[in-house]
Amino acid sequence: MTFEVDRISEDIDDAPAVDDSEALHLLWQRVGGRVRKAVGDAAFKSWLAPLRPVALHDDRAVLLASTAFLKDWVRNNYQQLLLREFQRDVPHIREIAIHVGLEAAGRGTAKEGLAAGEAGGDEAEAVATTARPAEPAREDTAVEGLTGLLDAALTFDNFVVGKANELAYAAARRVADSDDVAFNPLFLYSGVGLGKTHLMQAIAWHIVRAKPGRRVMYLSAEKFMYQFIRAVRFKDTMAFKEQFRSVDVLMIDDLQFFTDKNSTQEEFFHTFNELVDRKHQVVISADRSPSDLDGMEERVRSRLGWGLVADIHPTDFELRVGILEQKMAMNPGVHVPEDVLQFLAHRITSNVRELEGALKRVIAHHELMGREITLDLARDVLADLLRANSRKITIDEIQKKVAEHFSIKVTEMSSSRRARAVARPRQVAMYLSKKLTTRSLPDIGRRFGNRDHTTVLHGVRKIEELIQSDSSLAEDVRLLEAALSN
Ligand code: ADP
Ligand code: MG
Repeated sequence: MTFEVDRISEDIDDAPAVDDSEALHLLWQRVGGRVRKAVGDAAFKSWLAPLRPVALHDDRAVLLASTAFLKDWVRNNYQQLLLREFQRDVPHIREIAIHVGLEAAGRGTAKEGLAAGEAGGDEAEAVATTARPAEPAREDTAVEGLTGLLDAALTFDNFVVGKANELAYAAARRVADSDDVAFNPLFLYSGVGLGKTHLMQAIAWHIVRAKPGRRVMYLSAEKFMYQFIRAVRFKDTMAFKEQFRSVDVLMIDDLQFFTDKNSTQEEFFHTFNELVDRKHQVVISADRSPSDLDGMEERVRSRLGWGLVADIHPTDFELRVGILEQKMAMNPGVHVPEDVLQFLAHRITSNVRELEGALKRVIAHHELMGREITLDLARDVLADLLRANSRKITIDEIQKKVAEHFSIKVTEMSSSRRARAVARPRQVAMYLSKKLTTRSLPDIGRRFGNRDHTTVLHGVRKIEELIQSDSSLAEDVRLLEAALSN
């Protein structure tokens, strides 16, 4: 049933030594009981109880986590403990493997999915393909090949839509929903960590669940390249071609990895053309637009742009709050106060992956050190991230924003005019430069028409004073700071 997976994956492990799920569950109950004593009820309930044991290989126990978040968490915090406790019952166990996936419906199903997942390595990198079910009546069969390969958390339901990503989202939904080929290819692009992989996997999940008969294949461009090189080496390119050309939906993630004009690119292009000609859906992601894919031949670039090109923009504050709230809803065992969520959304602006990482870290400190989740805790444990995120605000940006806000020319920031109408905004810009960047006072002075650092210091103090006494200026500063941090 998973023969497509077998054919395209490397070194699939032998079948598990123990696949008697009842024995496995009994073992897990014993191990879990001891782990619960060690970590306490609350932590156990949040992190360990949701795990499912799926297989026991010779020297390895395999557990399934429903989300990548949970997997990382358990891996970082409880892996050693789990190993020790497993070893008390099964001494030859050497490793605890944790995979992300849904608990499969049928007996043995998770096992097969995991075998494929292990062969593919990291689930985001792995090849995911769904097989045409042998008996269409068994709906869960289509998911088998995917379990452990696609992250169960990356669905449309878990994708928060905002201005930044609404076009990409709508396009992805359309591709997932429609039977005809709406746009071909769908080309998604954005900077890192903004949801491309999430949307692609959401499309895969949706199709697999709604239309089990359709064959969906998701893989990274790197994986495609690797498979192709292997096929060439083993003189098996026919099978390689066949396997890709027989899918209904082909998704290739991170196409920018095809940097050289070589035979892999050529092969990809042929596959791509053939699928598009036959009206099979192709979905591509990359970190830049088709026309900016420098390593690609012109004809490839141009053809990539024929369908719909949708970019995902950097998030805004609202979207970030929405995403954090949604991540919390997926982990009901932990409570993070609203002001902390807002603080994170306000300050971690680079990308969603980093935002999630920040949330995980705050929760980790709470769990491990027993510290209450407060703004102070967040500031404390995220100091490096906060610095990295604020470093991105430049003095240029500040000068521009402030000038705009007060309707003066940017050049007045460096001019020698002392009229209050320009001097005050200039001081506000100095104040914000001190507060929001890591620049020194002399440095800042140089950027404001070569002023002395004492002048900058005077300006900064003046604004600090006025914030206390002049509420309208305080509001100006607050608005500017918020706009700049966004
Ligand atoms: P990319 O592939 O563009 O680098 P990913 O799709 O891997 O980014 O997203 C990085 C992380 O951020 C993932 O954990 C993903 O679930 C999360 N994420 C990104 N955008 C959203 C969104 N709009 N809603 C919820 N989670 C998101
Ligand atoms: Mg990605």
